[in-house]
Amino acid sequence: MAKILVYNNSTNRMETYYKGEREAMPYNTNQTLLVREFRGSSGSSTLWTDRNTMRAWNSQRYIYGKPIDVGFAFRRTWEGSHGTQSQHYAGTAFDVGQRMTQSERNALYNSAVNSKVWSYVEPQTYTPTWVHFDKRYGTPACSTGGYPLISRGSRGVYVLIAQDDLNTLGYTTGGLDGIYGDKTRDAVLAYQRKAGLTADGIVGCNTWRALQNAVVGTGRTSTTID
Ligand SMILES: [Zn+2]
Repeated sequence: MAKILVYNNSTNRMETYYKGEREAMPYNTNQTLLVREFRGSSGSSTLWTDRNTMRAWNSQRYIYGKPIDVGFAFRRTWEGSHGTQSQHYAGTAFDVGQRMTQSERNALYNSAVNSKVWSYVEPQTYTPTWVHFDKRYGTPACSTGGYPLISRGSRGVYVLIAQDDLNTLGYTTGGLDGIYGDKTRDAVLAYQRKAGLTADGIVGCNTWRALQNAVVGTGRTSTTID
C-alpha cells in the first residue's frame, strides 16, 4: 500500500490517496499506469505527482495506441540516481520504452513530441535506449534551468521536494504535505542560516542548489519522514 500525494493543478489543493501496488495511479484511466510502474525501483512509502502529469500520461498512452513499458518514473531526492534538479524527484517525469525495439521507440518519441502534452521530451541523442518526457512548471529559479522559485503560499510537487530535503537534513517542516506554510518557511530560514545563504525564507536558485547537492543520493536519514 502506497500513500500517494497528488497536487490538483485545477483546485490548487493537495489530495491524498492510498493505493495497492497493482492498482492504477490516481487520475489514470484504463489501468495503463499502475502504482508499481510509477514507483519503479523507489522504495518510498510515499509517492507524489500532480493531476496534469497523470492526464498527460493518459493522452500520451491514447495517442501512441499501444502499451508503454515504464522503466523509471518516481524517485525521492535522497534515493538519487538522477541529476540534481531532475523532474523525476517531482514525480512528473517518465523514462519509458526500454523494452521496445528502436523503431518502436522512434515512433513513441515522435508521438511524445507531436502530442504537445509534455513540457519537455529529451532528444534521442541523450537517451538512445529509452524516451524521457516530463511536465515542468514555472520559470526555473536558476538561469541554467531546474526547479522554480517557491515561497510561503506555494503548493505542489516542488514544495514536496523542498520539504523532503529539509526533513532529511534535520530541519522539520511539520509534515510532508506540499503546502509551504509557516513551519516550512521556518525550516528554510534555519537551513539558510546554517548553510551561510541569504536568510529570506525563499527557495530560489542558491537554496535549491544547496539543498539538492546536500541530499541527492545520500539515502534515508533518521529525520526523513513519509
Ligand atoms: Zn528521465
